[in-house]
Amino acid sequence: MLTTIIYRSHLCENVPVKALEEMVAAANIKNGESDVTGILLFNGTHFFQLLEGPEESVFRIYNNICHDKRHYNLVELLCDYAPSRRFGKAGMELFDLRTYEREEVLQHVLDKGTTKYQLTYNDRALQFFRTFVEATEKENYYEIPDGSSWDFIADDDANPARSIEVDETADCGFAFQPIVDPFAQQVVSFEALIRTADGGSPQAYFNAFSGNDIYAADLQSKKMAFAMAGKLGLKEQALSVNLLPMTLVNVPGAVGFLLNEIEANGLVPEQIVVEFTESEVISRFDEFKDAVRQLKSAGISVAIDHFGAGFAGLLLLAQFQPDRIKINRDLVADVHRSGPRQAIIQAIIKCCSSLEILVCAVGVEKAEEWMWLESAGISQFQGHLFASPCFAGIPSIAWPEKKAGM
Ligand code: C2E
Ligand code: MN
Ligand code: MN
Repeated sequence: MLTTIIYRSHLCENVPVKALEEMVAAANIKNGESDVTGILLFNGTHFFQLLEGPEESVFRIYNNICHDKRHYNLVELLCDYAPSRRFGKAGMELFDLRTYEREEVLQHVLDKGTTKYQLTYNDRALQFFRTFVEATEKENYYEIPDGSSWDFIADDDANPARSIEVDETADCGFAFQPIVDPFAQQVVSFEALIRTADGGSPQAYFNAFSGNDIYAADLQSKKMAFAMAGKLGLKEQALSVNLLPMTLVNVPGAVGFLLNEIEANGLVPEQIVVEFTESEVISRFDEFKDAVRQLKSAGISVAIDHFGAGFAGLLLLAQFQPDRIKINRDLVADVHRSGPRQAIIQAIIKCCSSLEILVCAVGVEKAEEWMWLESAGISQFQGHLFASPCFAGIPSIAWPEKKAGM
């Protein structure tokens, strides 16, 4: 099937522009053998390439291009299918935008094309050309340094790692994971993640219940979360707990129960954040909203977890505005290399900034993901890059430090 990939990248400083022509000539031989055609634009700093051909060959060549050390910050903009080639002439032409007048450069590029329609039809690939040539999206090109330019150094002074004894006869336990602001070197909050008494996953814990018992168990478990947080000495610290949205609706007196347990463990409502997971539809929205109203009037903050996934979509924000939202790893993974993920996250950030809602990125594993998200305006992060969850304890946190000479 005829497949199209478009990407953008940044030429490495140490590669002379002159070397590009030889590079393209060499690549052309390989592309020709694989029946891959297209066009390569260069604006003095950035490349923009369209590859067209049989799916397998396009993916293989693109994968090689991704590993080419002569360019960096490669972002995939489009992967699509088409009935015919847009640039079907043999070989891959290098087109230097700087050698043309601004007003006519787009037309020159399109003249290289072999499609009948040019910009007459709303072809996404050709619209990407227009955007690149006219440089209208340039403020969204975040040039991030290589991930290896940072060291992640555990600093145990401010928040020393520590743990408490586990009661193995209890019906559940909790792991704690920090949400951090890396540049401020501050812990924003600790999230309590449910575990079985011997440290098993949330799924293992909830599998033991069926029907409405899940909601009661979900609520009851928070007693343990607050107790452990109290014992770990998280008295001056924000503490996030997860609840199914329907727990507040289905269990009578749920908010009162939470408030009692918060107080019983020497905590205050103002330090608690309740995160609602997206995995269920909020089917009784009026009752849910009423429970949220009770949480808020008691001083508890509200977050929407896994924002943008499942049922926690944009419509939810029209109906009620949480204090914070969390973007999940599904969107965060390799965001620095994916145009679609970047566009979605930028839209979420813009929307939340208009509504003064704090945004946190969850599941951050790579330095490049973190740096891209910082460039986009996020400053709160949770992920293995900084600290993994620690069962019945607080892990040490690895803070980023710029390597000397970088
Ligand atoms: P969540 O609220 O989004 O919690 C974050 C999850 O991401 C945790 O999984 C954590 O271990 C994982 N995580 C953190 N950093 C990284 C990373 O860098 N990479 C990857 N791949 N994963 C990372 P965990 O502990 O297995 O929890 C899974 C989900 O279970 C939670 O997702 C939450 O939705 C749910 N859950 C946890 N505790 C409770 C609870 O008390 N009540 C309810 N209803 N749900 C809970
Ligand atoms: Mn959560
Ligand atoms: Mn999650």
